[in-house]
Amino acid sequence: MKDGYGRDINYLRLSLTGRCNFRCKYCMPEEGIEKLPRKEILSFEEIVNLVGAASELGINKVRFTGGEPLTRKDLPGLVEMVDEIEGIDELSLTTNGSSLSGVAKDLSKAGLNRVNISIDAIDPEVFAEITRGGELSSVLAGIEAAKEAGLEPVKLNTVVMKGVNESEIAPLMEFAAEEGLVLRFIELMPMGEAAGGAIDPKPLDEVKRDVERVWSLEKVSGLRGNGPAEYFRASRGDLSGKVGFIFPLSKSFCDGCNRIRITSRGRVRPCLARDEEYDLEINEDTSVDDISSRLRKIIKDKPYGHKWEKHDETAGEMSEIGG
Ligand code: SAM
Ligand code: SF4
Repeated sequence: MKDGYGRDINYLRLSLTGRCNFRCKYCMPEEGIEKLPRKEILSFEEIVNLVGAASELGINKVRFTGGEPLTRKDLPGLVEMVDEIEGIDELSLTTNGSSLSGVAKDLSKAGLNRVNISIDAIDPEVFAEITRGGELSSVLAGIEAAKEAGLEPVKLNTVVMKGVNESEIAPLMEFAAEEGLVLRFIELMPMGEAAGGAIDPKPLDEVKRDVERVWSLEKVSGLRGNGPAEYFRASRGDLSGKVGFIFPLSKSFCDGCNRIRITSRGRVRPCLARDEEYDLEINEDTSVDDISSRLRKIIKDKPYGHKWEKHDETAGEMSEIGG
């Protein structure tokens, strides 16, 4: 459906859990987050009703995220249930990839179309430092399994922080080009652990300049995706690949915004860069029609213009909302 500004809202990002097996410095507190009682997290049945209601309003693309969505038991089971919902044409997953290797094939069979895998370093020590103990090898195995399972294009998401992983830009570019993966650099957003200046983000125009020191970039359009990334073909000698830059801070993309987000507790976040959240108050007895009418109102009132234009921070934890 169209929101009050005439934007066609067809994309739902759904966080399945706030919990994660990694503790990325900019995303999760070192001690992790409090475990919520099970009934506070949307059950698979509630998710199916929710997606069914969203599809009645014109949502045709769904992405599962988290926290780490693969920490939810039987994700392929959920994928299968959601894949059967009429009107859902594309089902994708954002994951840290560390548990993907054992389940990529099952996810693909269940109806998952593609994955984005977050990887902020290709040096195992830098990777472990950022994730506070994460094992790079598990993520590399996940990437390989995703390719083998045909969950393509496999996109990599990378956040660059000054003094932390700037030196990873060139090796990650090389790795992605060699492996046929689409690498996307994402500007660090001032929320959660990254709020309050605790982490020094590397502005994306600087990241792009670093890339251009070594690679020739030529703008491309038409790469499959739902978001505000600018994509380029990167070439260096015989090697070529695709690289994207996602500029949530320095370039506003409200005009083309097509999405809503829902947290694992069933709260709708119509804009990532603003504080508003609306509880859908879903429980096992809530009908699809009720969810649909609550969602309709929230989408109609989806705001325009975000706080980051004024360089404010926004409330909420990225791990609850899902990025
Ligand atoms: N655990 C999964 C993963 O890491 O891909 C899914 C959830 S994670 C919150 C989704 C994405 O949000 C990741 O690519 C992560 O790097 C990104 N992210 C987390 N905090 C961020 C922040 N403050 N600014 C920009 N991106 C952030
Ligand atoms: Fe976990 Fe993803 Fe957050 Fe890292 S970015 S702590 S992998 S939810």
